[in-house]
Amino acid sequence: MKVKALKGIRDILALESYLWYHIESLCREVFKTYGYHEIRLPIIEATDVFIRSIGETTDIVEKEMYTFQDKGDRSVTLRPEGTASFVRAFVEHHLYTEPLPQKYYYFGPMFRYERPQAGRQRQFYQIGIEALGVKDPKLDAEVISMLKTLFEKIGLKDTIFELTSIGCSQCRPNYGSALKNFLKNRLSLFCEDCQRRYEINPLRILDCKVKPCIEARQGSPSITDFLCSDCSKHFERLRDYLNLLKIPYTLNPNLVRGLDYYTKTAFEVTSESLGAQNAVAAGGRYDGLVEEFGGPPTPGIGFAIGVERIASLIKNSFTGQECHDLFICPLGHEASDKTLIFAEELRAKGLWVETGYEGASLRSQMRRANRIGARYVIVIGEDEIKKGEVKLKDMIGKYETTVDMDKICETLIKKLS
Ligand code: ATP
Ligand code: MG
Repeated sequence: MKVKALKGIRDILALESYLWYHIESLCREVFKTYGYHEIRLPIIEATDVFIRSIGETTDIVEKEMYTFQDKGDRSVTLRPEGTASFVRAFVEHHLYTEPLPQKYYYFGPMFRYERPQAGRQRQFYQIGIEALGVKDPKLDAEVISMLKTLFEKIGLKDTIFELTSIGCSQCRPNYGSALKNFLKNRLSLFCEDCQRRYEINPLRILDCKVKPCIEARQGSPSITDFLCSDCSKHFERLRDYLNLLKIPYTLNPNLVRGLDYYTKTAFEVTSESLGAQNAVAAGGRYDGLVEEFGGPPTPGIGFAIGVERIASLIKNSFTGQECHDLFICPLGHEASDKTLIFAEELRAKGLWVETGYEGASLRSQMRRANRIGARYVIVIGEDEIKKGEVKLKDMIGKYETTVDMDKICETLIKKLS
């Protein structure tokens, strides 16, 4: 039987894991300086969690969710994104009773049944943050600034921060009417989905990826011309803060997020170095979502980063793959016993030690040491045991030094630091 991973779902092998670990470490480092804590959320939820929040007429809910009946005949879904699960947890655990804002980050896989292609998988990973409990656009600016700081640390170049406001439940209906007015006479140019969206959720037409629809909606009115005074003030102050922080951004009034829960601020970061799937992170405000889940009115904002896309951007310049500190080649039975104990002692002191196993020739052990990229190598045979000293081979410098066996650890620690 030949078995393969499912289409659009791939393994992250060890070498790439180092790169991911590097990205994750930088995220933790930066998020901590802004006061974020980690939250670990389940990857499976009741389907309703996503339908209610992301929106029934979004592409994610209509076409992309991994939804099935479990053995108890409940409809469950592999999460397509993190915010809905997070807000569900926030309300379930009454986190709104804690001092606000509450700031969290999460790492993990998301699942969307999309057409697999470069930069688009069916299981992909996001790193996201959520901050709840503050209306002040200063929080929006801080969140965007944190993302910019992070991308600089990661070494992403050519990123563009695109920004807009998509209003709130006050102003969006006015915009919806204006949009419908504009679309009315050209509706026949749109796909079937859009014709349906026209009646139930016209804003979703702006997010349609079908080519004729993209063309047919050219020249449509912008939501930013319809903002109520509260949203418009929020947007203006956010831009002031971004200017104060000297964060460059591009206004993109056509930026519509693929999820219905967003309000006011919406943003997306794209990279010119990526192909068609060029968004590396996206986010925005969701001031009504906590209430939607039965909590008290609590504003919120968050973003999610696409890990695969970040990794693909920096993989060529990444040199952080770690290597073994020491490889010990034992020769003979006594040396093998001695090596077992010796390796344990060195590991207890924090060194990364690998050894050869019973029966392997010196040549094959050296080959393995080379292949795993060991930094130093020692050979232990009868002679070495008798004398109590070994030759320490530097695998990069290609030279040897004689070292007392009981000084190996301190010698290596000194050399490696
Ligand atoms: P896109 O426009 O690329 O479809 P999106 O608006 O659906 O993105 P979000 O839901 O905002 O994406 O997710 C945030 C980030 O997660 C995206 O900017 C992207 O980097 C990443 N992402 C989203 N979907 C996928 C996918 N199927 N495969 C890989 N990464 C993805
Ligand atoms: Mg998408």
